[in-house]
Amino acid sequence: MQLQPTASHFIGGEYVEDTNGTPIEIVYPATGEVIGTVYAATPEIIERALESAKAAQKVWAAMSGRDRGRILTRAAAMIMERNHELSVLETYDTGKPYQETIAVDATSGADALEYFGGLAASLTGEHIPLGDDWVYTVREPLGVCVGIGAWNYPTQIACWKGAPALACGNAMVFKPSETTPMCALKVAEILHEAGVPAGVYNVVQGMGEVGGALVNDPRVDKVSLTGSVPTGKKVYAAAASHLKHVTMELGGKSPLIIFDDADVENAVGGAILANFYSSGQVCSNGTRVFVQKDIKEKFLKRLAERLGDAVIGDPLDEATSFGPMASARQMDIVLGYMAKGKEEGARLVCGGGRIERPGFYLEPTVFADVTDDMTIAREEIFGPVMSVLDFDTEEEVIARANATEFGLSAGVFTSDLSRGHRVIGKLEAGSCFINSYNDAPVEAPFGGVKNSGVGRENSKEAINHYSQVKSVYVRMGDVEAPF
Ligand code: NDP
Repeated sequence: MQLQPTASHFIGGEYVEDTNGTPIEIVYPATGEVIGTVYAATPEIIERALESAKAAQKVWAAMSGRDRGRILTRAAAMIMERNHELSVLETYDTGKPYQETIAVDATSGADALEYFGGLAASLTGEHIPLGDDWVYTVREPLGVCVGIGAWNYPTQIACWKGAPALACGNAMVFKPSETTPMCALKVAEILHEAGVPAGVYNVVQGMGEVGGALVNDPRVDKVSLTGSVPTGKKVYAAAASHLKHVTMELGGKSPLIIFDDADVENAVGGAILANFYSSGQVCSNGTRVFVQKDIKEKFLKRLAERLGDAVIGDPLDEATSFGPMASARQMDIVLGYMAKGKEEGARLVCGGGRIERPGFYLEPTVFADVTDDMTIAREEIFGPVMSVLDFDTEEEVIARANATEFGLSAGVFTSDLSRGHRVIGKLEAGSCFINSYNDAPVEAPFGGVKNSGVGRENSKEAINHYSQVKSVYVRMGDVEAPF
């Protein structure tokens, strides 16, 4: 099986190759086979991408918001028409089951392009009357934005960053994760076909050094990263040394709190969505599942039964609902955490190891009797490992849920509406859920507090992170100077 992209990079409206860069093998996670190769961007490629973006941004920003929006909306429609093809590609890039990718990945990318395409014409300023004088404000683009992606949602991340950036009149240079280099190239190709001028959306491949070179370049005005907290700190520091704008979508160790009055079937469903979708490789996952003592055994029993219904297999088979990890490296990291859970005395309810078949498959794993000090309750695992912790009271669970450096998401299951809102109000997290988990509609802001991030993606909030306001004072009378 070979799925060689046309070329490694997409710059100035065309595919561009430079085989002098470090080769990056594209590995299909379901088999471990190498299905293609791309080359990391050389300094010449980075230069070409930035020059191209810099020049094209002026042309794009000079167009009306309505015209920009119409092009983005057209790209959204093209993505939906090509959903099958893009979903298969996403499955090859990440290993996620087609059952998921057909429903979530290209579609959420299209949602973002449609939503921000719709907003583009309404990005206006204000008029501020000051007696005879007045001030008006103009919402302007930032300039050239760099997007750096993680490997779990390569199409979605390329669109979630690209759509608001382009709607506001910016140009983008996007660097996908080296683990999943293929999907963003297709996004660039479709945007170009939809009418985005050459150079407005570029993709360059590479490892951390390429990301670093982009972040440090003076032509770049904004950096938006989706990645881990350690990388976020490095990238934020580099951007800060040039006073660049940033959006940081980082990791989490989010709490999901299940009170004993919750509907157990819904709570189990929520906990499954919070831990096993995309084989657990979701930043907002609720991996610390706090279950009130009275319903713990009932919860664990139904959870184990329902996990037994997972269909583990070929991700391209539509019946498959649980696929491999995105890379051998991530599989090894997660195996390390499974071993730590056992070593530190957590009770293994199910799973706990590798599935004996080609590719990077791990068993859906649940640990019970997990305590707050255990490594699996403190560190982000980014794999199919749920930690179930017991609790007695509301006050206790809120304090324990907040006792973490992270603050991306939080969820509560309860049939007491007042308690649901009261508890969510006290949880330190950016994206929260009551009687649900992991919904991410483009209409709602998405992002974290504490070490989980800075800024928000999606919704009207994202516009503030991809634009800046110019204010213009207009004097209608004479200027009165002191001398
Ligand atoms: P990493 O932090 O390792 O990498 C993220 C991206 O940054 C990659 O493209 C990486 O390149 C690049 N990078 C690494 N070092 C640097 C550097 N010094 N300067 C510039 N760029 C750099 O994350 P993963 O790809 O391993 O993704 C998993 C992480 O992402 C998890 O922690 C998860 O929580 C988080 N995540 C957060 C989301 C959110 O919205 N909050 C959503 C999805 C994931 P390379 O390809 O070489 O590694």
